[in-house]
Amino acid sequence: MVKKEHIIISILVILILIFGMLIINETLLKGDAKTNESSKVTREVLSNSTDEPGTVEVIKNIGNPNGKRIAYVVGVHPLEYQTHQTLVRMLPEMDNLTNCYDIYIINVTEDVGHYGDGSSDNSQGRQNGQNLAYRYVYPEILNGNYELAVDVHSNVGAYPYRTFVFSPVKEHTSAEYARNVADSCENISYYAPDSTTSGPFLTIPLNEHGIPAFYFEEYSFAPQDDKDKHMMELIFAVDKLKFI
Ligand SMILES: [Zn+2]
Repeated sequence: MVKKEHIIISILVILILIFGMLIINETLLKGDAKTNESSKVTREVLSNSTDEPGTVEVIKNIGNPNGKRIAYVVGVHPLEYQTHQTLVRMLPEMDNLTNCYDIYIINVTEDVGHYGDGSSDNSQGRQNGQNLAYRYVYPEILNGNYELAVDVHSNVGAYPYRTFVFSPVKEHTSAEYARNVADSCENISYYAPDSTTSGPFLTIPLNEHGIPAFYFEEYSFAPQDDKDKHMMELIFAVDKLKFI
């Protein structure tokens, strides 16, 4: 004879199982919805060849997928990674962006060098990053329907300004965009050094072939809070630009 308690316990176990399955199902459905929501942002590898001194990746479709397309580039000079990481951390977290952003990420792994080694300004790591930029990032941006490219760097304070934007090509649309950005930022100036080492590998040929490209320079040793504040100013100012 089946005891009454056994029947009650069996019914309870069955009810718990049913509820459990409902909850699991619900969670899976929500998970799916979330994946779809964020799946417009993709991360792709452009090069991970062992013949190269590093890798190149791109995070695509940040912001408004129907907006104008803008490319950010980080990692051309590997020692400047703190500023690069600041952009890569902050830009994908921004809400209500007007434009659509792709971030090209160069990750030099050979001869990165280090500050204070006396050779950081001409270390092989800088040339490695510049070569990767020219081989893998330049053609993508040139053929990618972009209104603008912003190459993100930092400096050790040898210029009259520490946080600034500039175009390596004077009297160019890119210089106008960079000036507009500086005008609308409290902490970002316009200052164009006479020459740059990386210009010939990315920003100069982009400008010469119809894609406006300018530099953002941060002070390498600025506190992280300042780097965040300046990056926020840059991101907002670029997002407000009126493109010609
Ligand atoms: Zn640099």
